[in-house]
Amino acid sequence: MNNLSIVKIVEDTTVDGPGFRTAIYAAGCNHHCKGCHNPQSWDIQGGVYYTVEEILEIVKRTEFSNVTFSGGDPLMQPEGFTELARRIRHETRKTIWCYTGYRYEQVLASPELAGILPYIDVLIDGLYMENLRDEALHFKGSANQRIIDVTTSRAAGKIVLWTHEYIKK
Ligand code: SF4
Repeated sequence: MNNLSIVKIVEDTTVDGPGFRTAIYAAGCNHHCKGCHNPQSWDIQGGVYYTVEEILEIVKRTEFSNVTFSGGDPLMQPEGFTELARRIRHETRKTIWCYTGYRYEQVLASPELAGILPYIDVLIDGLYMENLRDEALHFKGSANQRIIDVTTSRAAGKIVLWTHEYIKK
């Protein structure tokens, strides 16, 4: 059973992806972006440990909410989050959005990180760059980050951005 170090779990949030979502904030991040709004999440030892089963129970109790992995960087705990994503994919109809400071190309190139891709719907990738910050952006902090439709990208063999009527850029 994998244990995951978690800063907090927020149910029914509307800020980390479209609609109501259960947001799971991972502890641990080595990217240390300048201007990070959540530096208290950097220490992986600073979280509370949950089993995959315990998080799954929380995810399942809100029937209509989808799921977001945020942090910190969930991909600092790739094994546990891959297992969690796999279980959510197989046991629910919920979509999964995942934030990471890695770029999609880095995730693809690493067998350890890429294992999560078959189980998630959207990856918001890249470091937070203070000089590219734009408050008008939806679901991301800086313009360099991409909201990637992972399912379509994997099928197409190239990066396809997720689109929605209220995403203008
Ligand atoms: S990747 Fe996210 S959590 Fe990590 S330092 Fe950058 S902004 Fe902060």
